[in-house]
Amino acid sequence: MSDSSQKALAEMHWQYDLLGSIEVGIVVINRDFTVEMWNQFMENHSGKLPSSVVGKSLFDVFPEVDKTWLLRKAQPVFDLRTPAFLIWEQRPYLFKFTTNRPITSSSDFMYQNVTIFPLATLGDKIEKICIMVYDVTDQALGQINIERLNGELEEMSRIDGLTRLFNRRYWQETFEREFKRAKRYDETCTVLMLDIDHFKKVNDTYGHQAGDKVIQALADVIRDTIRETDSAGRYGGEEFAILLPDTDAASVGYVAERLRKAAEKKQVKHEDHKIDFTISVGAAQYHERHQTALAWLEHADQALYQAKENGRNQAVIQTD
Ligand code: GH3
Ligand code: MG
Ligand code: MG
Repeated sequence: MSDSSQKALAEMHWQYDLLGSIEVGIVVINRDFTVEMWNQFMENHSGKLPSSVVGKSLFDVFPEVDKTWLLRKAQPVFDLRTPAFLIWEQRPYLFKFTTNRPITSSSDFMYQNVTIFPLATLGDKIEKICIMVYDVTDQALGQINIERLNGELEEMSRIDGLTRLFNRRYWQETFEREFKRAKRYDETCTVLMLDIDHFKKVNDTYGHQAGDKVIQALADVIRDTIRETDSAGRYGGEEFAILLPDTDAASVGYVAERLRKAAEKKQVKHEDHKIDFTISVGAAQYHERHQTALAWLEHADQALYQAKENGRNQAVIQTD
């Protein structure tokens, strides 16, 4: 062997070692997607030896690779010599590899960023392209975790901790929105307020914790009674507000009565006691004379006050 070819061989050797030890997947393919090179990283994660991949069509060996998509991505790399990128946010992976951290990771596959770039021949033609696969699982899971936490925070800012219904601020926002819609499209919509009767007595007799349980029990009653399109919120201590879109006063009469009866039937167990409670309900249908959302709500509050005045454990529905 000549000196120069020996030198070239030695160079190939360390370059081969380099490609082997690098923590990035390297795949070289021809125009017809025959695999030319398959490095150690790809071998480790696919479990396929270069001998079982090199010389074969990439799509035959990896049927899960989206052929149409990869062809479309690779075309400009061959024809225009422009590199192409794939980020995990658009597509979680190109090759479906299981992750090597099954215990700490909540993902069972490897998230990948992928770069595809042209490889020129000595004659400066592009006959091959290189696909580089980066393992970005940690980064992706971190990002997903942050997004999940943000989602939870956003939910926490909307939800009342004790009852899991909307909190006052968020409920009011929803109510304002519905008010505007009702005004603009002249929609039929009713708002309902309810308040536990003689609740101070519950607190005084059984303690604040028992009072909290009663509040939670009423929240359960509300959840079980209303429709998915209705919005219920905790408006104050033991006071709730429910918005019922597409509902006229007559239908609300049934809802109010269902709520009242269900509350009356519900018993709250606390220590050795069984606590009964009742509620009063006031409701007002939206009317064009309501200039503000607050005016509409006050109308319902007046109805609630009327129900209390009339002796509690009852509903008063304002129809005009
Ligand atoms: P009424 O029939 O007129 O409504 O009588 P009431 O005793 O229920 O009177 P009111 O609605 O004014 O009383 C509300 C009480 O609710 C006062 C307050 O101590 C209590 N409260 C407010 N928030 C909470 C809470 O989060 N937990 C508990 N346990 N009690 C609360
Ligand atoms: Mg009360
Ligand atoms: Mg009250």
